[in-house]
Amino acid sequence: MSDLALGRRLMDRLEALSRFSDDAEGLTRLYLSPSHRRAADALAGWMRDAGMDVRMDALGTLIGRYAGSANNNRALIVGSHIDTVRNAGKYDGALGVLAAVAAVEALARRGERLPLDIEVVAFGDEEGVRFPSTLRGSRGLAGTLDPAALDERDAAGVSVREALAAFGCDPAPDGARSSTSPLAFVEVHIEQGPVLERAGRPVGIVTAINGARRLSVAVQGHAGHAGTSPMAMRRDSLTAAAEMILAVERIAKETRDVVATVGVVEALPGAVNVIPGETRFTIDARAPDDAARDAVVSGIETAIEGIAARRGLKARIEATHSAPATTCDAGLIVALDASVRASGYEPLHLPSGAGHDAMAMAALCPVAMLFVRCAGGISHHPAEAITLEDADASMRVLLQFLRSYNAS
Ligand SMILES: [Zn+2]
Repeated sequence: MSDLALGRRLMDRLEALSRFSDDAEGLTRLYLSPSHRRAADALAGWMRDAGMDVRMDALGTLIGRYAGSANNNRALIVGSHIDTVRNAGKYDGALGVLAAVAAVEALARRGERLPLDIEVVAFGDEEGVRFPSTLRGSRGLAGTLDPAALDERDAAGVSVREALAAFGCDPAPDGARSSTSPLAFVEVHIEQGPVLERAGRPVGIVTAINGARRLSVAVQGHAGHAGTSPMAMRRDSLTAAAEMILAVERIAKETRDVVATVGVVEALPGAVNVIPGETRFTIDARAPDDAARDAVVSGIETAIEGIAARRGLKARIEATHSAPATTCDAGLIVALDASVRASGYEPLHLPSGAGHDAMAMAALCPVAMLFVRCAGGISHHPAEAITLEDADASMRVLLQFLRSYNAS
């Protein structure tokens, strides 16, 4: 039986990293923010203490390399992201990065060097909160980043390029491309759903990651005086958007396993006595099956255009993010199954409803994910929680995997 030392180390580090926040209250750590910088600096110190060579790439991804004994530039990449949503929990992303650091630390403490290099990565742009699109770090490493992604701007008008320069990086879309020959990318992550808890398992193995598409919609009407414009003569962009948002919900409900969400709505000019002339909102649609998801998105687009036409308004729909469903590597799943069994648990397979850096990494090498049970399936919220016992279980499985993968 484990003395939980590995889990304790991981939980302590999760607490420590959670103190790096853009807000005084709660945890908010956006891409390239001051708290991202402070978190990366602390993490770099922990990586060095664990015997890793540390660098930051052109897109703000922190990379720690624990050299292998074979010295052949072949690497196993392990990690996740350290950016968060607003008012986040402590485990989403950070768990996978810190588990990887703790695993290398455990190896280094025993003087154990595996044949392959282990590269621990801490991506900075997974949540997509600050800029319209996401996964710049992992796409950069995989060599699939669209250069236009560097020209996107945040709400304050700061471009990714400018933010990267201020962060101390030399922004170039190709500047982050992996120089090693990665054999696999493995990401440990909280489940963010209730399946493992319901099944009574500390960890699960991901079979596929749902594909996601994000749209941004701008509805152009006419601003007008709220008192003097008769109801019949208005072109109210917000009431049109309200109808469109209900259509998003209705159409998504018609197809099994498809989910669609409107998470941001902005009415302009945003005054109590002015009819909103322009309303913007976002749509996020996901499914394990790309064709089903695309059919739903097409239906939504048609509905939006129909509503706009009927009300005499214009709707501009822009695609801001698109990622196909990602299948996890069958060989890595088998290896994780064996590691879970060797750690004393029965493997459980499940799909991921949330997007992850592993989706982008799949363009570079085979990918796999290990999910860790989280309380109530809650995530993106301060109530996000895992137990010490489950942290320890995930560490033992990860270490077992690293050793057995190297032995095979
Ligand atoms: Zn995450």
